[in-house]
Amino acid sequence: MSTKTSIEWTEQTWNPTVGCSKISAGCANCYAEAMARRLKAMGVKGYENGFQLTLLPERLEEPLSRRRPTTYFVNSMSDLFHENIPDNYIRKVLAVIQQSPQHTFQILTKRAKRMADFFQGRTPPLNAWLGVTVENRADGIPRLDCLRAVAACVRFVSAEPLLEDLGIVDLSGIHWVIVGGESGPKARPMKREWVMNIKSQCDAEKVAFFFKQWGGWGADGKKRAKKQNGRLLDGRTWDAVPVPFCDFA
Ligand code: SF4
Repeated sequence: MSTKTSIEWTEQTWNPTVGCSKISAGCANCYAEAMARRLKAMGVKGYENGFQLTLLPERLEEPLSRRRPTTYFVNSMSDLFHENIPDNYIRKVLAVIQQSPQHTFQILTKRAKRMADFFQGRTPPLNAWLGVTVENRADGIPRLDCLRAVAACVRFVSAEPLLEDLGIVDLSGIHWVIVGGESGPKARPMKREWVMNIKSQCDAEKVAFFFKQWGGWGADGKKRAKKQNGRLLDGRTWDAVPVPFCDFA
């Protein structure tokens, strides 16, 4: 079932698949993996296979029955472009998105190449925002070219967990950047200067900038509970969200 979430940049999660496998540095302390194991132990429906990739077609139609316009994060517990999800199933997910114009759907992937290949010659639904994770330079930056190849109304970047300074980033064709630190007992630190480097490039390129949270380490470089580190960057929150503009529609 779709679920209300505390993730700062969305409203509900919708997981027509659950489970995944690790693909890059950002996956090392995957929140979804730990959560899936916990839900399996609790006997929660849908998590019988733990973190093993599982299609849940019974969940496909959930957004259709919700009238109130809602922003959904698609597959917070998986990756829609995982190699074990058949093209035909992705088409079914996109069909539901297309049939739910009252909602906005945020699809975030680390499998950017597959996403670009999937959408070659196809336009995503107008209410689908497509994004890639950019946690570091080696794994993350190459995903940007794949994202730019897709004709989405909103193309976004999740720099979470931000693991290093990203240097100069080509933000052309990117509408939104979300930055966050890693949470959990094994959280890796995020430095203020890395965040400010991205923010200043977003400001210069007029890209919406959203600071999600510090995670396990504060701006002062000290490790403590996530809530104590909070969401403030230079004394305030940064919650910009892009206005969709479909110049290809
Ligand atoms: S791609 Fe996402 S869900 Fe999959 S293992 Fe990596 S962090 Fe976890």
